[in-house]
Amino acid sequence: MKPENAQGLAANYFGIAGEVTVLPGERNPNFLVTNGVQMYVLKIHKADEVAQIELQEHVLAELSGLSGFSVPKTIPGSEGKSLIALGDEQFARMLAWIPGELWSASETAESHKVSLGRLIATVDHELASFDVTKYRSVLDRPFGWNALQVQSLADDVELIKDAELKKHVKLILDRMINSTLSKVIALPHQLIHNDANDNNVVVRNGSIVGLIDFGDLIYAPRICGLAVGCAYQLDARDPVASIYAIVRGYHEVAPLSPAELEVLFDLICLRVATSVVMAHRQIAADPDNEYLGVSQDFFQALLPALTSVSDRLSHYRLRNACGYEAHPDSRHVRQWLATTDAKISDVVMPPFAQAKKIWLDWSGENKNIARSWEAIEAEMKSASADVAIGHYCEDRNVYESDFFVDEGKESRTVHLAVDLFAPAGTPVYAALDGKVFLFHDNTAHLDNGPMIVLEHETDQGVKFHTLYAHLSRASLDGLSVGKEIKSGQQIATMGTEEVNVGWPPHTHFQLIMDLCDMAHDIWGVAAVSELPVWRSMCPNPNLILRIPEGTDVHAHMKTETLAQEREVVLSRALSLNFQKHLEIVSGKGAYLYDRDGGKYLDLVNNVAHLGHSHPRVVAAAHKQMLTLNTNTRYWNQNAIEYARALAGTFPDPLSVVFFVNSGSEANDLALRLAQAHTKAKGMMVLEHAYHGHTTSTIDISPYKFNGRGGDGRPDQVRVAPIPDSYKGLHRGEGAGEKYAAEFKRELDSLGQPLCAFISESIVSTGGQVPLATGFLKQAFQMTREVGGVCIADEVQIGMGRMGSTFWGFELHDVVPDIVTMGKPIGSGHPLAAVITTPEIAHSFMTGMEYFNTFGGNPVSAAIGQTVLDVIVDEALQRNALTVGNYLMNGVRELGKSIETIGDVRGSGLFIGVEFVTDRESQSPGTKVTKDLIEFARENGVFLSSDGPADNVLKIKPPMIIGIKEVDIFLDVLERGLKSI
Ligand code: PMP
Repeated sequence: MKPENAQGLAANYFGIAGEVTVLPGERNPNFLVTNGVQMYVLKIHKADEVAQIELQEHVLAELSGLSGFSVPKTIPGSEGKSLIALGDEQFARMLAWIPGELWSASETAESHKVSLGRLIATVDHELASFDVTKYRSVLDRPFGWNALQVQSLADDVELIKDAELKKHVKLILDRMINSTLSKVIALPHQLIHNDANDNNVVVRNGSIVGLIDFGDLIYAPRICGLAVGCAYQLDARDPVASIYAIVRGYHEVAPLSPAELEVLFDLICLRVATSVVMAHRQIAADPDNEYLGVSQDFFQALLPALTSVSDRLSHYRLRNACGYEAHPDSRHVRQWLATTDAKISDVVMPPFAQAKKIWLDWSGENKNIARSWEAIEAEMKSASADVAIGHYCEDRNVYESDFFVDEGKESRTVHLAVDLFAPAGTPVYAALDGKVFLFHDNTAHLDNGPMIVLEHETDQGVKFHTLYAHLSRASLDGLSVGKEIKSGQQIATMGTEEVNVGWPPHTHFQLIMDLCDMAHDIWGVAAVSELPVWRSMCPNPNLILRIPEGTDVHAHMKTETLAQEREVVLSRALSLNFQKHLEIVSGKGAYLYDRDGGKYLDLVNNVAHLGHSHPRVVAAAHKQMLTLNTNTRYWNQNAIEYARALAGTFPDPLSVVFFVNSGSEANDLALRLAQAHTKAKGMMVLEHAYHGHTTSTIDISPYKFNGRGGDGRPDQVRVAPIPDSYKGLHRGEGAGEKYAAEFKRELDSLGQPLCAFISESIVSTGGQVPLATGFLKQAFQMTREVGGVCIADEVQIGMGRMGSTFWGFELHDVVPDIVTMGKPIGSGHPLAAVITTPEIAHSFMTGMEYFNTFGGNPVSAAIGQTVLDVIVDEALQRNALTVGNYLMNGVRELGKSIETIGDVRGSGLFIGVEFVTDRESQSPGTKVTKDLIEFARENGVFLSSDGPADNVLKIKPPMIIGIKEVDIFLDVLERGLKSI
């Protein structure tokens, strides 16, 4: 069809008059129609495609509400029909153009890959329940791009004339047909898009926004579609690493199973091979169609890279990328080694347990490495040692030869074995029964030298290997592959430095799950970024050596690796501070330090009450850890004396203490105490309050149950308005009474007996909101009048932080029935507590024992006592008052010239600074707050925010900060607010 005909068609049948240009297409002519306002794609189809188009139309309708991504919208033609018959056995349809550009024409960002994975997964997820019954015949049609029809491709391999290219394609097809296909077929099938290549992905403003071209829909395991998306993003330098981000993006939205990951790499290879065969097929049939050659150079160049990497290792690496342990049998082998009755023999110097050992530090940080045999021997002599041990998972900088650097890749530096250094000639024994798997003399500089690999088998028939490297040459004499070896049999002697291609005499002893086509070039060291993979592939050989002092030094992972690992091995429901995430490695006093040495004043952490790493806390913990740690089922002075000291900070009748491990646990126990005492379940809480992450405490936390992902207010709970006298319902004189009346209204609506009212005295998650004067006293009274008990949550605010008082409730002239404590009381150690009255404690004596494994253990109690001591010794409560007032006055002073500072409030070192767009409207200054926090981070100060509009700075630093730190903060605040 000619463009002018297409133009007429668009106008006459679809009412879209505009300019028409031809778009490239594999099968059919497509036209871009532009009417000055919007763009459309006019597609021309042949009659035999009608069933397929009906399927597409159905799918597009199904996907029209996709969250986060768009698919083309069908524009109805005359009589509302989406498919217009043109005569000539041709049909036309019109789709709206998704604004943006094709990924292939835009700049590629690594973030696109994650997004691509999410896009494919989102579509798959949506199509998972699509009923294909009606469309079976379309979906089962012969179709070269359908991975399940790989056999038909194999029939056309002969079309490839280039022998080298043909070899690679054949290798991939054979592997698929002979071993992988049956596993693919066994996976659950669904409808999939099957063509998420970068010509079908739309990018707008740097983000992936849509997916087009639904002409390749097939019914197949969804992993086939992910494989297609991956195939077009491969990088020959490290094909597997180049698709991690896509796979992770997919896994995040639609978790991948181990069975899917097992076939993914082979399916990716298949897609590349398919493209090559299809191009040869199509070029043979239609030599003039230019579109057919698209991506051929790219794919043909990729093939050698794909066939040269081990498909098994690729599988393990992809498992690791999704959080599964890299080698699926590694756990079994480790367990078998830990429990087997099979004879495990000493590799050197039996009885090895009695050999005198020293440990060599070959880590990159050591500037004084004993690298020569003379130096090692001298160290051994001075310690009268028989053997020197080189660590497992040590990041070393001794691997200077090219052997450890693969072009364009990170060098390999992390040791995967244990080294046993001893004089040349020292006998080496087989650790287990097995047979010779391979032996070889690796003569390249710093390579393995003469080495032997034995193969072993667990009771369940799982094979694994032991590697003994740097042997004498004579050790290889008389060996043959398959030769039976007995556990404890001498198999070798250690080689000299000369034979050992530059290494001092030692045996490099390594456990290996799978040699993964490495042949003689077995990796004894790995790239630090792939450490989790190699830990699994080569478990710690101390499972065999059994050196009680240990061999694993846990090489430091790269920050990027930590970030990736965290995404898959920890819950994604966890969050990270700041837009630019940080790896914090140490803390001292009021400061935290990142991995690059960046120093930050920490105004966020009220947990490190006495400052980070307070030496007296560390010493108390260390001393008690060295002495004893048990539980409260023995008399032990620590918990008992500490309970008395802690109770000494409370007014009568609060005197009975329970020790727990977290604020949530403290509040959960407080609920149990209150319920035991009142026999009631009804709860009164304050708007925006947070009391913990457990089931019971989420139920009393409007911050959570009314927040994102929350299930709403439980029936037994009533929420009273937050008594905020700055911008709440009631302000100024008498606000406290009015809020108390609101409280009463909610209480009256409860409709069941009241168990308790729980509240902080400054509502932290509400945005550091001090309770309006007089409110708490009246609310306590109302609570008690109907038989409820009053719980003060001091988890955030207590322990002297208020400055003028030790506990927050004391600001309000009330005495609670139960007080819960957490965060600061252990100054960084997980310690929390509940204190109550003898009467309530008595009600809790139901006959059921209260046992808490860790609560009140001697170590935690020693720490808690030290925290109380230090607060007194360093006069920290007074410090909180003076420094806190200095800070608030400083911010108020700034507020005289900076309009966005709406309110400055708090007590001692628990301060809120509320930002507004202007003081008149009090509209929340959420953006200012957010920008300020990032500005402050860049300028070395950590801040955080809270409140329903996230527009309140929460300032709650370690109690040891001084005027100097406040001045740093005030300077950053002023510069920040004036520049953003
Ligand atoms: N109560 C309050 C007021 C809190 O702020 C928190 C924690 N932010 C908790 C209870 C729960 O403490 P934890 O996180 O130690 O369980």
